[in-house]
Amino acid sequence: MHFVSHDYSPCLVMILSKTCILNVGFCRSAVASVVTLGNVYYCVRYRPILHVFAGDRFANSQHEKQAKTAQLQVKPNKVLYYGAAQPSKGEVVNLSKVPKNRTRESADILIVNAEEMLTLTGSSQTPRTGKQMGELEIIHDGALAIRQGKIAAVGKTRDVTKAFRGGYVLSAKGKTVLPGFVDPHTHLVFAGSREDEFQMRIEGASYLEILNSGGGVLKTARETQKARVEKLVELGLERLDSMLAHGTTTVEAKSGYGLTPEDELKILEALRRLNQLHCMNVVPTFMGAHVAPLEYRNNLEEYIDLVIDDMMPKVAGQGLAEFCDVLCERGVFNSEQAKRVLVAGKRYGLKPKIHADQMTGLGGAEIAVDVAAVSADHLNYASAEGVKGIMQKAIIAVLLPAATFSMMTGRWANARLMIDGGAPVALGTDFNASCFVRNQQAVIAIACHLMHMTPAEAITAATINAAHAINRAHEVGSLEVGKRANVAVLGVPNHKFLGYSIGVNLVEKVITDGRLVVDREKQDEPVFLSRTE
Ligand SMILES: [Zn+2]
Repeated sequence: MHFVSHDYSPCLVMILSKTCILNVGFCRSAVASVVTLGNVYYCVRYRPILHVFAGDRFANSQHEKQAKTAQLQVKPNKVLYYGAAQPSKGEVVNLSKVPKNRTRESADILIVNAEEMLTLTGSSQTPRTGKQMGELEIIHDGALAIRQGKIAAVGKTRDVTKAFRGGYVLSAKGKTVLPGFVDPHTHLVFAGSREDEFQMRIEGASYLEILNSGGGVLKTARETQKARVEKLVELGLERLDSMLAHGTTTVEAKSGYGLTPEDELKILEALRRLNQLHCMNVVPTFMGAHVAPLEYRNNLEEYIDLVIDDMMPKVAGQGLAEFCDVLCERGVFNSEQAKRVLVAGKRYGLKPKIHADQMTGLGGAEIAVDVAAVSADHLNYASAEGVKGIMQKAIIAVLLPAATFSMMTGRWANARLMIDGGAPVALGTDFNASCFVRNQQAVIAIACHLMHMTPAEAITAATINAAHAINRAHEVGSLEVGKRANVAVLGVPNHKFLGYSIGVNLVEKVITDGRLVVDREKQDEPVFLSRTE
């Protein structure tokens, strides 16, 4: 019998007989290797050999030499079995007793024995609200079969393994499995950083004071305007890698640091390339009306004309964005101006989103209701009337507590009022140059500690409801048959560790579109996998 030993991705692959190594190779994806090698009944790991190769992840001739000498250590019938049946990870089984399960359907990856599998099923059509937000549709001893990048089965381990055998079987014993996080609000692409202003804010400077002195968004815009698109892509890839390592598999990203037609298009072009290059999904939003450049300070309407008449036709014409966003804030754009931008965006097929009532109550939530926005984001100062309208129209309230945390304003969105009142609440990082947070686990922790959301509510908000906020709930945000296989495995036995745990990365493994792309049990850094591989 031939079998395969693999050491994850990028990985060493060995085809073994019972007594010797028949072939040795290296490949970037263990999953792909199992599929392409064919004629392989079981996927096993041979402990003595893995001892030799532990930690050696990349190909070189030295490894090959080691592999050839390693055959001396092969001992028949002592195989760590990762097959389709029940043996748990680490169990030593006799190969001759390994059952042949050819009648079962084959899955590319089978996750079994999850302590908690958080499926969040049943909410692909409408977001979860009220009490539903605290219900995660948990399967204990859960299993998940993945085939051709999609979820093929979800259920109890005994049921799923009766129907499926896995090419690669992953034991999640003692672990929590959930949909990859969806981050519905980021400003992913910009050049430079603003750690100096962070210190100024600690020392008491306000957002507007910094902006009026040419800092803030304007400083980042200057640096972004100078950067070439390749540089922006490079920065974006690094940031996506770090989000992915923390369990995020889908991300919304806005332009808005360009502020000229040419530079706004450059950012959206960078987002388009990032979506092609990286295994994460990047959903683009046009936000030319992030702030007006200094030369338009006394003529905001003229800048809005530029956004609407010059930028929008190009953005829409080139299909570079799905959404249109605007910053409605004192000293930036008032509610009438914000509305003008969003109404015009709709004419170009760009669905409206709004930065509403973050630092002042300017009626942003009401504008969201007026233009039937997909989401109203921030809402720290939203009026009771505005919140009521959001609830009635089922507009997603995207709360961004990491921004409040970073800006040190101390004014939190009233998440309890919104959830108890029936508003669909989502959570995002608001990653930007002044809120340098890329980790949805950190956002969940802040939401639990400072907005009194329960871990379950926060998880709902960072998965299926976040997917609704960017019109992706039909394909991601829950573990349901037919959806994209975007999955995170946490090294904790239940979901309440999210929120409870601060400052550590609980994610052990991440799968995007059916491929294992992060394995932190084996490596500290994520494996970057481009789509073109
Ligand atoms: Zn934002």
